[in-house]
Amino acid sequence: LLSVRNASKQFGTFKALDGVNLSVERGQRIVVCGPSGSGKSTLIRCINGLETLQGGTVVIDGVALSQDRASLIRLRRDVGMVFQHFNLFPHLSVLENCVLAPMKVRGENRPEAEARAMEFLAKVHIAEQAHKLPAQLSGGQQQRVAIARALCMRPKIMLFDEPTSSLDPEMVGEVLDTMVALALDGMTMIVVTHEMGFARQVADQVVFMDRGEIIEEAAPADFFANPTHERTRNFLGRLL
Ligand code: ATP
Ligand code: MG
Repeated sequence: LLSVRNASKQFGTFKALDGVNLSVERGQRIVVCGPSGSGKSTLIRCINGLETLQGGTVVIDGVALSQDRASLIRLRRDVGMVFQHFNLFPHLSVLENCVLAPMKVRGENRPEAEARAMEFLAKVHIAEQAHKLPAQLSGGQQQRVAIARALCMRPKIMLFDEPTSSLDPEMVGEVLDTMVALALDGMTMIVVTHEMGFARQVADQVVFMDRGEIIEEAAPADFFANPTHERTRNFLGRLL
């Protein structure tokens, strides 16, 4: 479903991504971890078109990502994104946040978009708050709205960039539960997170990045039991 080939990205002389290869099959869940500055967010941002690669390719469902308008519109439909800081529109109600893109990008009419939004809001247990503004919700609730909003576009793949790292500890669980439910539904997901419990529970593959490269990837059982690289061991050691 997704193939990243030899991706490279520099900021000045600094190599944020240095020859990254990643393949994701339909229904697969990939967890990406690694130290701060290792290029995790840059990788995610290149996959969803927020950054452009200097070398290499991203192919989604058989179509190579490019910068032309049609390609970016397709990307907005196919790839859902959830950020660390929710990025909801603060002046729009929860429901309006959810119907905006489906109406603009997918051309859905309002009743259709609202009905679908209410379905997804119910799935993340937030339907009763549909008419509130984001600021009236807790951080965990806002992040669940962000997940529902992404799902309203019926994406083929969902990308998460540290979705729980700006939440108070008591709200982390409710967001992770939502993501586990999504995984059990069969959603294809790439999740940047240091929540290793989540990785153990749902990941098919754990990818470890350091200095712009993927230096280790393995099924969670192997990844945690027998990390091959010194840098992976150091990183895991510091997490525990
Ligand atoms: P963190 O765990 O802190 O989120 P990360 O693995 O997501 O880290 P990235 O955000 O991908 O790391 O950044 C990789 C490197 O690229 C960092 O050294 C960062 O300073 C640099 N970088 C990222 N974006 C830019 C930018 N727009 N301009 C210049 N440098 C950047
Ligand atoms: Mg990051």
